[in-house]
Amino acid sequence: MAQYTPMILQYLKIKADYQDAFLFFRLGDFYEMFFEDATKASQLLEITLTSRDGGKIPMCGVPYHSSAGYIEQLIELGHKVAICEQTEDPKEAKGVVRREVVQLITPGTMMEGKGLQEKENNYLTAIANFEDETYALALSDLSTGENRVTLLNGVEEVINELSTLQAKEVVIAKQTAPELEGVLKERLNVTLSFEESADRKEEFSSLTENIEQDKLLAAANRLLNYLYRTQKRSLDHLQPVTVYHVHQYMKIDYYSKRNLELTETIRSKGKKGSLLWLLDETMTAMGGRLLKQWVDRPLIDRTHIEQRLNMVETLIASYFERQEIRECLKEVYDLERLSGRVAYGNVNARDMIQLKKSLQQIPVLKDLLSQIDSADIRQLSNKIDACEELTDLLEQALIDQPPLTIKEGGMIKDGFHDDLDQYRDASRNGKHWIAGLEKDERERTGIKSLKIGYNRIFGYFIEITKANLHLLEDGRYERKQTLANCERFVTPELKEKETLILEANEKSTELEYELFVALREQVKEYIPRLQRLARLVSELDALQCFATVSETRHYTKPELAAGRELSIIEGRHPVVEKVMSSQEYVPNDCLMGDHREMLLVTGPNMSGKSTYMRQVALTAILAQIGCFVPAREAKLPIFDQVFTRIGAADDLISGQSTFMVEMLEAKNAITHATEKSLILFDEIGRGTSTYDGMALAQAIIEYIHERIGAKTLFSTHYHELTILEEELNQLKNVHVSAIEQNGRVVFLHKMKEGAADKSYGIHVAELAELPKELISRANEILIQLESQEKPAVTYSAEKKDHESVRESSPVNESASETNEADQLSFFNEAAPASSKPLSSKDKKVIEELKGFDLLEMTPLEAMNALYMLQKKVKK
Ligand code: ADP
Ligand code: MG
Repeated sequence: MAQYTPMILQYLKIKADYQDAFLFFRLGDFYEMFFEDATKASQLLEITLTSRDGGKIPMCGVPYHSSAGYIEQLIELGHKVAICEQTEDPKEAKGVVRREVVQLITPGTMMEGKGLQEKENNYLTAIANFEDETYALALSDLSTGENRVTLLNGVEEVINELSTLQAKEVVIAKQTAPELEGVLKERLNVTLSFEESADRKEEFSSLTENIEQDKLLAAANRLLNYLYRTQKRSLDHLQPVTVYHVHQYMKIDYYSKRNLELTETIRSKGKKGSLLWLLDETMTAMGGRLLKQWVDRPLIDRTHIEQRLNMVETLIASYFERQEIRECLKEVYDLERLSGRVAYGNVNARDMIQLKKSLQQIPVLKDLLSQIDSADIRQLSNKIDACEELTDLLEQALIDQPPLTIKEGGMIKDGFHDDLDQYRDASRNGKHWIAGLEKDERERTGIKSLKIGYNRIFGYFIEITKANLHLLEDGRYERKQTLANCERFVTPELKEKETLILEANEKSTELEYELFVALREQVKEYIPRLQRLARLVSELDALQCFATVSETRHYTKPELAAGRELSIIEGRHPVVEKVMSSQEYVPNDCLMGDHREMLLVTGPNMSGKSTYMRQVALTAILAQIGCFVPAREAKLPIFDQVFTRIGAADDLISGQSTFMVEMLEAKNAITHATEKSLILFDEIGRGTSTYDGMALAQAIIEYIHERIGAKTLFSTHYHELTILEEELNQLKNVHVSAIEQNGRVVFLHKMKEGAADKSYGIHVAELAELPKELISRANEILIQLESQEKPAVTYSAEKKDHESVRESSPVNESASETNEADQLSFFNEAAPASSKPLSSKDKKVIEELKGFDLLEMTPLEAMNALYMLQKKVKK
């Protein structure tokens, strides 16, 4: 180390504490980076790499004044940036100027910039894990001050919650959570940070006062410790931590959210094309963020859902008031994030004017709400506190169009502060006096072009063109500056006035800055009230948004069924309907309930099976977030969870081992669903060979039917499965109809009862304009295959046909046998070749039999086990 200069040694010492961050080391007007940081940053930011100390130390830097963009770029990429400033005046420093890190900027602690979407929260999260496999998760949006904490069971719930929150950064303890660290790295695209301490500190003890459970406290403290350690400043806008429970909301796991495209589409990962995109008629950024939270967490509490639905209904009926409310909301600035920036100390006078204008809308809003005749709305309106004293204060203090900077004056109104008025008078009088002087001097010298000017370096001067110089009285004027065609002079009296004016100006700018800072402190006091106001305004905004969408898209108020009935009459898929341009969306009914808990959906490719199933799920979700639904009539039960799984073939883009993923997702759904859940299985079993897939599909259907009883829509191209309707009393077949016109298939996208009768694959190929020759060859092959076809499911009724086929066509016998063998290997559990379907009791026996480890049994044990089994089937 001896070879390094003292400054580099200082750098290395500081860097040692910030290993996982880029250290932005302030040197004059630049932030410099050295060593590995420099090599990496020069690539990531595409800036020139230079070196220092004779080429030994790689170095690169960004100018201080344009650093924000570079910092953002690094944060966007998931990195952290430690800002290291000079913390003493270089003039007073002995040796190397003292430097300290003043803030660590990380993906989860961004306060402003492009990375911060206005209609999305930016969550920093922290986890405390415990031996009983429970996890406390704390979250904070530093830009809005929101803090919450919840307890989760198992790592899957953690993954789900983190993906719902779209958390960018997770804080854990390095020591106690090595496995968790591995899982998070592998499963989620998050930045990991470490904070060992989960102790409660004095600075923020008031934020956690209401939290009693130790586990929750640990997570909340870890989060707050991390924030205080990294942000190193006042965090007055942080709101008290509140507890929430994921089980108070409808559970939609990560796969289902993705598959239903609730907040982003599968393909582009963008908002456009998602349900959120369709719904977003919010007028404020805060309302936009709340809407996303609502979509992410549909309700399960009937009263709460009905309350939202009723308010939406009222707002739909109050058309004119709603339009005015929307106009009003348009003028309301992001009060939540503004409060955060006030606490951080980075607001300017323009922000304050925005705040004032926003606040001025609130009484108008209240007035509009009071015209609406609804108890719920009145209650909402009563809770709104317009913070009128603050509006008045801002109105008195600030001019309407202040400059961007807060250090050059020109922000505070005349009459707001006596001293300021005096300085301003002095300065104004001085300027007045100068104007008078100009006139006098012109008269005295007779030079019409004489003028008095000002610049920063020379101050006030009298300017005379060269041609007129001879007219000046000797001795009176002192030369200050010579330019190409003029000379500049001062006089003692001008100098004296100049001092007065400049002093007054300087004092007034200084005072303005002080007054502004004081004003900001006063606004700080209002932060909790502003945050409450923000919350109510967001709610109103989200509700008017539902009303607006429901009205323009002709949605209907859903009725919440008390029992298990689900009936959607003329339902539509909200997003497909919106994006369809020329054609009309064909509405469809969905009727489920008694003896119809499961629908097996068949139909040709591209006929609308997937769309139909998603439409049902989206309708349920819309209803439970309190929005009207796209249908003529709808009655739905309240679902505790929604599962949506798509067969792997539909999902080639993700590039994962598709069949394994498909099965994992299916497993996850099956293990968690209850009879109150909604399951959509879209062509599950596609990712493997036909019989394999079909067998799995059937087994899954049976399992849900027997063990879970969840409302289920199962689409399949295994036509053979439609026979299950005969055995499973809760299962009904429905199909999407298609008709053939002139040898071509036309999809009607219309759902009908019963099973589809034919596969239209070849016609689809034809629609796709595959070569004619190829199509007619495919038709030939199909006819051949159909003539050989045997039913794949060997139920008794089918069996007869089956045998007759065999008898009547001995030529095909060997083929038939291999076929049959195949089928038996998959269906012998469900239906032995001999006769009727197996009872569930029989199936259990087979399961047990399979479970025997014969090599580990004595002959006697084997005898005993067989005897028990026989007894079970005989009974
Ligand atoms: P499948 O799952 O049966 O292959 P999809 O549900 O993917 O079919 O639908 C195929 C296309 O048909 C969709 O892209 C959509 O544009 C259109 N479609 C589906 N349902 C309807 C409908 N009810 N009305 C109009 N068009 C529809
Ligand atoms: Mg499909």
